[in-house]
Amino acid sequence: MKDTLFKQIDIPFDFRHTCWFCGEPSQDFINLPASAHLIPKLEHEPIAIPACDECSRITFPNDIRCAWSLRDHIKNILIARYAKHLGIGENWTEQELVDTEFSGSSLGGFGRSAWAMFEIAKTRVSFSGWSLSVDEVPLVNYDEISGFTFDGTKFLSLNSCIDYYEKATGIDKELLTKLVEIVKPERFDYALKISKLNKRLSHSERLDILEEVALQETEQEEIDNDAQFRQRCIDVSIEDVMVEGCVAPAFSIQWALSKGVRNLDHLCAFEDDYFDEFEYLGGPAAFMTYNGLQLYLEARKNKRWVEDNDPNRALWEQ
Ligand SMILES: [Zn+2]
Repeated sequence: MKDTLFKQIDIPFDFRHTCWFCGEPSQDFINLPASAHLIPKLEHEPIAIPACDECSRITFPNDIRCAWSLRDHIKNILIARYAKHLGIGENWTEQELVDTEFSGSSLGGFGRSAWAMFEIAKTRVSFSGWSLSVDEVPLVNYDEISGFTFDGTKFLSLNSCIDYYEKATGIDKELLTKLVEIVKPERFDYALKISKLNKRLSHSERLDILEEVALQETEQEEIDNDAQFRQRCIDVSIEDVMVEGCVAPAFSIQWALSKGVRNLDHLCAFEDDYFDEFEYLGGPAAFMTYNGLQLYLEARKNKRWVEDNDPNRALWEQ
């Protein structure tokens, strides 16, 4: 019900009769706060927000202090309620569902309606409303960085996101929780991928996976630190050189200078040394840089080329 105490938020023409929370046709308004004695606790003036039948029936706690946290609250109720529908899109692709329709399997018409249910649910939980204002005065005051956003959906917290994937896809909650601790929430997609591939685990299977991922992460960190350290050690006066479409990178030229490698024959004698030193780049990348260095040293045999093309010539003369 609209009430004079609650001012209706501005509704852009394109969104008339639209639920601000989920994008479905609006039938009603939600008054915020839920009762007049809570007005002093609100971060903005009391407002009436257009809502669909379902969203307007969702009850909310008294400690909700602004429209945006009310939206987070309602979205999370919708996510929990439609987890099974949302799970369809998490577990299947549209093509797989279409295939079930044509395969004459016992699933029958499951594919088309299942995908439609997924799309409706996904659109509703991803709908982000429009900017809030009353009489064209914008409402502000919200900490937009709170909560956890993944794949276009904002969850109340990282934990409610994990709960959602447990409900929607049947992943092992403990595995996903611990994986996110190891790889950090920024790489939630990676943790989720591993969890989707490893459902229904025994205690020891779970431990094995966690141990393996933790080890991979430590190794990767060492490689990154090493690469960063090496990057910092590169002499900035040395420049990359392009020869016949290949690059002799500054770090490989610096290495050659430091080893006293002055020509191709020298380089051949130090080949193993080179690959030991730059192993961290990975085989193909190390080979490419070695090849670039070879071509550079070959080109340097030609004095004219050196005069015209070698930005590092002064360094070789020291
Ligand atoms: Zn709604």
